[in-house]
Amino acid sequence: MIPAAPLPLQQPVIAPSVRWQVQWRDAVRDPRELLALLGLDALAAQLSDAAAQQFPLRVPRGFIARMRHGDPADPLLRQVLPVLDEDRIVPGFGLDAVGDHAARSGHGVIQKYNGRALLIATGSCAVNCRYCFRRHYPYADDSAASGGWRDALAVIAGDASVHEIILSGGDPLSLADHKLAELTHALRTIPHIRRLRIHTRLPIVLPERVDAGLLDWLRGLPWPVAMVVHANHANEFDPAVDAAMARLRGIGITLLNQAVLLHGVNDQTDALADLCERGYAAGVLPYYLHQLDRVQGAAHFEVDTPRALALHTQLAARLPGYLVPKLVREIPGQPGKTPLTSPQNAILGVG
Ligand SMILES: *Cc1c(COP(=O)(O)O)cnc(C)c1O
Ligand code: SF4
Repeated sequence: MIPAAPLPLQQPVIAPSVRWQVQWRDAVRDPRELLALLGLDALAAQLSDAAAQQFPLRVPRGFIARMRHGDPADPLLRQVLPVLDEDRIVPGFGLDAVGDHAARSGHGVIQKYNGRALLIATGSCAVNCRYCFRRHYPYADDSAASGGWRDALAVIAGDASVHEIILSGGDPLSLADHKLAELTHALRTIPHIRRLRIHTRLPIVLPERVDAGLLDWLRGLPWPVAMVVHANHANEFDPAVDAAMARLRGIGITLLNQAVLLHGVNDQTDALADLCERGYAAGVLPYYLHQLDRVQGAAHFEVDTPRALALHTQLAARLPGYLVPKLVREIPGQPGKTPLTSPQNAILGVG
């Protein structure tokens, strides 16, 4: 009798399709660990435990690798570190800065603009950006995902004026591929949908997310797809991000970037020009440069409107028109993002 060959012990094989999820879970959540990794332990005196408790630190290690070691003013670090500045209560900076609570038309759907419906696919993000309105918005228990897609889809199906679906969040690409497929499978049955847009920061902060499974899903969609990524500084691009962008462009996805104008991060003409040029080198066109939403805890990031306009004018003088993002502000009640271009709009923007 031939003895059976001993079976090799089951190895914990990580399928390529879930590698990003392993990295997701491995994100740094302890502000002091982040500072230690960067050789910035002395900066601990500026940390706010209250802010970190209200909206926890969360940052993928690949993004940390793009921060400058030993630089307390690093523009990527500033976007994610919970600091004492956040504890200041500043008049005008509230809990629902963009009026989304009022504009909700159905479970997980926000319909403020003609022809477009924004679907809150999930409340999760791979990174917690300190300036984000999400820090006060209980998306986690209010996404289309949490109640199944049914209510959200019923709202969209019942309104033939909706031609574009915007998957947003949170970060829609934090959903597993099969969840995304489930959603778009249901959207396929709605004949008036012509375009799909995906608002996501994941290809920037965790480019491994753009894997074979995601590309398969995207390739199979029946609509033209635009992906609006979110990078605020040229240093957020690295070879892994470039490769992710190349994969997306390779299957015909339109790539656009939205950035937020942030004091201490990108509020210099050079920094903005570098961002636009670096993005374009990766195949991404600038779309929006947002004035900050006035959320509580983010006042130290604000750039006032006259300075924002001046920076934008300098940017336009330096770059070709197609590399200049639109400077916009979201004003509650307006039927679209409000461009800050004329003195009249500038006055609106202050209000
Ligand atoms: C920003 C936004 C959109 C998209 O606006 P575009 O100008 O088309 O990019 C749609 N819905 C909501 C609620 C938004 O905030
Ligand atoms: S929604 Fe976007 S800006 Fe807000 S925390 Fe998530 S990734 Fe950052």
